[in-house]
Order: sequence, then structure tokens, then C-alpha cells
Amino acid sequence: MELGFKALNHLNRPFRWIEENDHEFWTYGYMSSMGMRVGINVTTGYLDVEENDHVSVWSLSKGVNLPQYVQGSVKKYFLSNANCARCSARTTEIILRPLLAESSKAKRLSYIVCSCGYPVWRISLDASCAAEIALSRAEYSRTIKKFRESLLKNTGGKHNKQEIQQILVLQKNRCIYCNVTFTESTRATRDHLMPLIYGGTDWALNIVMACHRCNSRRGTIPFRTYCKLLSPTQNRRILKHLSRRIVAVKSDQLQEGAFASFCKGLAQHKPQHPSYRSKLRYSAVIRRYASVNKLLPAAPHLILRRASVGSSH
Ligand SMILES: [Zn+2]
Ligand SMILES: [Zn+2]
Repeated sequence: MELGFKALNHLNRPFRWIEENDHEFWTYGYMSSMGMRVGINVTTGYLDVEENDHVSVWSLSKGVNLPQYVQGSVKKYFLSNANCARCSARTTEIILRPLLAESSKAKRLSYIVCSCGYPVWRISLDASCAAEIALSRAEYSRTIKKFRESLLKNTGGKHNKQEIQQILVLQKNRCIYCNVTFTESTRATRDHLMPLIYGGTDWALNIVMACHRCNSRRGTIPFRTYCKLLSPTQNRRILKHLSRRIVAVKSDQLQEGAFASFCKGLAQHKPQHPSYRSKLRYSAVIRRYASVNKLLPAAPHLILRRASVGSSH
């Protein structure tokens, strides 16, 4: 089965029209595109002039394979919400094939087609947008994952589930920054004392547990610098927590470089950090916290000393 295919890529022409009686030729609008970021071109339009019958066509450039990490999203968010515009069949199987009528072989795209060979999928506008967003999200997670992997390759370190459990016990299952209790909906995330981007390691000792909100709010602000923005009460809690962590360190089990990385993470302080400064500008309460909070100590022995002084009062 050969299908003619023609996408008109200019806006002057009303493009929502498919020639009903000629399945060899259709036109529709080039309304949105994911570009080549995910490797998928998404073209959407309507089969009818009233714009009720929304359709979407997904294609890949020649030589591009559908990346493994987006296949799940394509099935879940696109195919499972779509049906073939010709035979109405539903499928979650990804079938790719070029449309033979396309002029230049070099530019030939592969289309996600129904088992009947048709590349046009009926899908609501909402579902179609959601599918594109899911693709972006898959791409974004992938980028972050790759970036972290490359950082970790340089800095090293690894931890296991048991070590994370121990940290959670020491933190009483609470966020180190805002003290919220972790639950199913408020998940604990790993936050690096010395951010990976500054050469922090992935050893457990470089990790504290934080809620997602605090983790992303801190971003790459150095640990001690960020703590200046929190309430004095929270600073006292953090000091106690750090001292518990230091006391819990078993020197005979300590991996090479883990303690050095912990010390580096503690010592770092950058009051010029742009997002620290913008948070200060943002709120008078935060400015007050920053002016009354003593900077947390820069080294483990100083933390133990200040924590013991604090608790004897
Ligand atoms: Zn079909
Ligand atoms: Zn928090």
C-alpha cells in the first residue's frame, strides 16, 4: 500500500482540510513541532472544517530511530489515546515506515503508522498536547540523567539503599531543611552537601535527605550558605543533625575520599551565589534570618563543638 503525503508548511493557506475523496492526497497544518530534540516531528491538524476531528501525525527523519527512552511515552500518551483515522483501529505497537510517495529519498521520513499503513491518528487536542509534553519530560529526565552520570564519572562515589535508610533514621524521617515529615506524597530526595556540579561525590556522607521542594529551592547554593536563609530554629536542628551524622561515622567503614568530600561540602560558602542573593532580595523575613543566623561551622570538629555548647544551655 502506498500513500501519498503532502504537508503544507506555510501559514497562508487554510490547512485543516483533507480531500475527502482522494486518500492519496491530504493537506493539513504544520502547527507544532518538537523539532529534532527528541527526534520526532509532530504535525497536527483537523480533518474537518469545523475543527472537531483533531488528528496528529508523528514522524522521524531518515536515519533517526525512535529512542528507547521515549518509546514508553509514545505508547502510553500517544498511541493509547489515539485511533487510526482510516480504519479506527487502536494499537500500542509502534510501527514505523516511510511513505513511498515522498519525493526525495534522502529526506524520507518514517511515520508511526497503523497496521493498515495509515499514518494519521485521531486524537483529541488535549491528549495530543499531553503526549508532546510527556516527550519533553522524557527528554528532560534523560538529559539530567546523562549530565549526572557524566558528573559522577568525574567525581566518583556510590551509596546503597541501606545507607540512605540510615540517613533517614538519623533525620527522623524529616526534611533537613524544612522539617516536614516524609510521606508517600512528600517524598524524600537525595540532596548533595557538595553539589555534584562543584565536584561533590555520591558517597552517602555527602548526602542529606530533603523534600523535593527544598531540594530544588536550594539548587546549587552551597549548603552552609543556603542554611543562612532558613529560620534560626531550623539552623539549630540542622546543626544537631550534622553532629549526629558525624558521630555515626564509622571510620573503619569509611570509603576513600568520602570524608574529604564531606569536609569540602561543609566548608563551601558563597554569599555571592546569584540565587542566594535573589532569595535575599525576595523577602524581608529571609533577610532577617540571614542577618541573625550564625553561619554553620565549616568543619566536622567545629560542628561537634558548637552542637555540644548549644545543647548544654
Ligand atoms: Zn488503520
Ligand atoms: Zn523541605
